[in-house]
Amino acid sequence: SSTGESYDLSFKILLTGDAGVGKSSLLVRFVSAAWEDTAPTIGVDFMIKLLTVGGKRLKLTIWDTAGQERFRAMKSSYYRGAQGIIFVYDVTRRETLTNLSDFWANEVELYATNQDCVKILVGNKVDLDSERAVSREEGMELAKELGCSFIECSAKTRVNVDQCFEELALKIMEVP
Ligand code: GDP
Repeated sequence: SSTGESYDLSFKILLTGDAGVGKSSLLVRFVSAAWEDTAPTIGVDFMIKLLTVGGKRLKLTIWDTAGQERFRAMKSSYYRGAQGIIFVYDVTRRETLTNLSDFWANEVELYATNQDCVKILVGNKVDLDSERAVSREEGMELAKELGCSFIECSAKTRVNVDQCFEELALKIMEVP
């Protein structure tokens, strides 16, 4: 259409993982390219991004599930119909990785009832290399366990941010 808002496919994507790993930073960075060090106060529910991947015009509605009470109360409606899940951990905090396998993966299993739901594991904050507590290999290992793809990125420097979302979108398009 002339509004420039036409698209071929529309996908619902959810970001999940511990508080502070950079979920809202990744979202804001991907959608607006702005870096705000005040990310915790943004508190967005979702953002929409139109982009072209693999020759298709996509509308991505990306939910930041955060840890708010509001989210817990409405968990099943947030997860319902999600085609893609982005598991996020912080490479400088080991517990954010273990909480993915101990807690968040179960949440997704329980509530993301769409059988074809595609997942990606994202290790964020690679710019803090001197503080790194989780190796790339450990991340790859968990991705294998969870049956998903893997990428390391930095919401701060924007390294691999687009790739996280584009890789997931490509995988969703491969679902028969
Ligand atoms: P969320 O709770 O998972 O949504 O995490 P936020 O997006 O609120 O980020 C938590 C904190 O980590 C904020 O102070 C961000 O500025 C910071 N942060 C997020 N991503 C990165 C990153 O890639 N590198 C660095 N150095 N800090 C980051």
